[in-house]
Amino acid sequence: MVATVLVGMLCVYALSFSIMFLLISRRLGADRMGMDAFAMGNLVLSVAYVLQLLEGPAGWGWMGVVNHSFTLCSLLAYAIGGARFFGRPAPLWRPLLALALGYAALQVLVYSVWGPVARYALLSATCVVFFAGMVVVLLGGLRTYARALRAEVVLFIVLISGICVLNAMKLAKLLSGGLAALDMDDRFQMVFYIYMCSLATIMSPSIVWLVLRRLTDTLRDMAARDPLTRLLNRRGLREALDARFRKPGTGARMLLLDIDHFKGINDRYGHHAGDAVLCAVADVLRGAARGGDLVCRMGGEEFAVVCMDADEASALRIAERLRAALQSAVVLRQPDGECLHCTATIGISGRFADQAALDRAMQDADAALYRGKNAGRNRVECGVEYA
Ligand code: GH3
Ligand code: MG
Ligand code: MG
Repeated sequence: MVATVLVGMLCVYALSFSIMFLLISRRLGADRMGMDAFAMGNLVLSVAYVLQLLEGPAGWGWMGVVNHSFTLCSLLAYAIGGARFFGRPAPLWRPLLALALGYAALQVLVYSVWGPVARYALLSATCVVFFAGMVVVLLGGLRTYARALRAEVVLFIVLISGICVLNAMKLAKLLSGGLAALDMDDRFQMVFYIYMCSLATIMSPSIVWLVLRRLTDTLRDMAARDPLTRLLNRRGLREALDARFRKPGTGARMLLLDIDHFKGINDRYGHHAGDAVLCAVADVLRGAARGGDLVCRMGGEEFAVVCMDADEASALRIAERLRAALQSAVVLRQPDGECLHCTATIGISGRFADQAALDRAMQDADAALYRGKNAGRNRVECGVEYA
């Protein structure tokens, strides 16, 4: 009775998350982050729960066959959802259909050759292989595609390893004790089901959390970066500086850079080419700035490189390096082979050490930049020292 109520509730739980995943996937549009596959996984799992309720004691019947096939299909759907979440295109319907039909046929074969115990042993063995494979894939992901979600992936690895070990133990029990190993009053079976139900309960909210994290990270990134060059924008610069200035004694200097005669590039080659030049300039700045410096597009054809912990001499050196790198770079290659170069004028601010002083540093660098423009462009000018 208690087991029936629990399985029934799990079924409702899986179904409601299935609907929720489907709704979320519709809202997400082009990149569904695997939510449609997760919805399918939950749907198939809830059907397996219903069949479990209707099937009764372990034995042989079409419900049992479909139940085992659907249980495996739900695992496959989750795996496909996971692959899609991490940006790997993976088909859903064909693999699911192939697994459902193929595994049903395999069950009939195994049952007719080796009997009922072998069919249950087959499910446990398949689950062991499947979960072990998932753990290996996730372990590889920790160093590659899933680096940003390290804590979450480690939790999944621990949980999946647990169910993998329990399935291996169940397989051993089935092989040594036969169908008696499936007796629901057996202590191992209780532990097995409590773990499995807990896993099924934890999985769905965890998936919602993963999607929420990805979305908030994307939103934060969109708010902090310039969409054309992917450099920090003003807001991103302020946030990044906030974090840097938390360390006591940290100071910075702003190198404000404005492309010379950029309007001429737009006028001669078109706005689209102008955009390409802006991206090329951003690449040059990224490459020529020091590792810890903040490279930012302030707007239009104006960029800033904020050098952390740089004295006046080294700020001047970096600015000169940026200027020279830009002068020698090809920022646009025309279809006829013409290579376009451009130059920039750079104004350097005095040292500033907190957010409040940023505006003053910007004005100071701007004034120096203006002097550089008036003095003939393609040069570096220093602002006043206010320390
Ligand atoms: P100076 O040497 O004095 O800096 O001259 P300039 O032509 O670079 O400066 P000006 O301020 O006259 O022109 C800047 C131009 O930058 C005008 C504007 O159309 C262009 N611009 C601003 N933002 C963008 C953009 O996102 N893409 C493109 N293609 N052009 C832009
Ligand atoms: Mg300008
Ligand atoms: Mg300009």
